[in-house]
Amino acid sequence: MARRRLVAGNWKMNGARATLGELSAIALAAQQAGNVDVAIALPATLIAPAGAAAPGLTIGAQDVHAAPSGAHTGCLSVAMIAEAGAQFSIVGHSERRADNHETDAQVKAKAEALRGGGLRAILCVGETLAERDAGQAEAVVAGQLTGSLPAGAAADWLSIAYEPVWAIGTGRTPTVADVASMHAAIRATLRTLIGPEADAMRLLYGGSVTGDNAAELLGAGDVDGALVGGASLSAAKFVPIIEAAV
Ligand code: PGA
Repeated sequence: MARRRLVAGNWKMNGARATLGELSAIALAAQQAGNVDVAIALPATLIAPAGAAAPGLTIGAQDVHAAPSGAHTGCLSVAMIAEAGAQFSIVGHSERRADNHETDAQVKAKAEALRGGGLRAILCVGETLAERDAGQAEAVVAGQLTGSLPAGAAADWLSIAYEPVWAIGTGRTPTVADVASMHAAIRATLRTLIGPEADAMRLLYGGSVTGDNAAELLGAGDVDGALVGGASLSAAKFVPIIEAAV
């Protein structure tokens, strides 16, 4: 099945109004890459200003709370990020699973809240190095996927990002063969969970993607795009990844 590619950036806790200029060049590249979807997950403080700086670029958040409102100091609801201009959010990033002890059940609830609010989601899964070394990578990822896949999971609002924890921000990537076999395993797990819809769902690879390795990684079987951290912070580094996906 032909799946349109998606290249998503994640600025994490980086960026300021002064760096929003990067988004204009990224928006231009996104416009020219007619057959690729491009999206950027920004710090919440930059979502609204980004809408003005780069109209037309798909902007999202990096996390959201599952509850609609209430006593959750420091958190943001789906309606809040949507009002700021977010069209999607990442959920279950490994940094949140580790730093904030987020469980699969919480990640699932967040994704379901996004769907309820009419937003899209990128759901992250991935094993640690210890889990890979123990030969557990596929089992860990299948477990995360089964535990955090939201009700109503469908390709028109949900993508899955495979991000091996040991590849994030380290400059290390799995081999293309390892990426291909993990993505095939993820798709097989998805088929058991949601049937044929699994074949329409985009599976992104994330972890030290750069302009130099993007073409190779995007060429791996069952890889339908990339989730990019460090290299999404500047147009000079991110645009070549978009171009590699065209
Ligand atoms: P990285 O981050 O590209 O800097 O490795 C990827 C991610 O965490 O999404």
